[in-house]
Amino acid sequence: MRIGFGYDVHAFAEGLPLVIGGVRIDSPLGCVAHSDGDVAIHALCDALLGAIASGDIGSHFPDNDPAYKGIDSKILLARTVAHLRERGYKVGNVDITIALQAPKLRPHIDTMRARLAEVMGCSVEDVSVKATTTEKLGFTGRSEGVAAYAVALVERI
Ligand code: MG
Repeated sequence: MRIGFGYDVHAFAEGLPLVIGGVRIDSPLGCVAHSDGDVAIHALCDALLGAIASGDIGSHFPDNDPAYKGIDSKILLARTVAHLRERGYKVGNVDITIALQAPKLRPHIDTMRARLAEVMGCSVEDVSVKATTTEKLGFTGRSEGVAAYAVALVERI
C-alpha cells in the first residue's frame, strides 16, 4: 500500500466553462487552463502519481503540448490509472477537497463521485469528494480562483 498527495489551483475568468470532478457546473466564472481546467481531477492525478513516485501531471501531460489543448481531464485521469496499472498498482481509495467560494458544489458532489469512480474503475464508496468555502478569505474566498487537494491510497495488484 502506498499513499500520495496532490494540490492544484486554477484562476477564474468570466465566460469560461467551469468543470470540476468531471462535472460541468453552471457559473459565470470558469477556469483559465490549457486543458478543461478540472482542478479536482488534476489534484487527483497528482495524488495517484505521487503514490507511486512517478512524477506529476505536468511531466506526463505537458501543458505546452497541443495534444492536451482543451482536453477532457477525465481522459488524463483514465491514462493516469492505466499508468498505475502498468506499474502494478490499483486505486485503493481517494479523498478530494475542493476550496471554492461559489457556486455551491453540494448538489454536484455525488455526480462527481460516480463519474470519477467510473473513470478510475473503482467503487463509488472508494471516492470521497468534499467542498469547502474559505470564509471569503484568500484568492478562493475572493473568487479569483479555485483550489483542490487530494490524497490517494493505491494497492499492489
Ligand atoms: Mg491544473
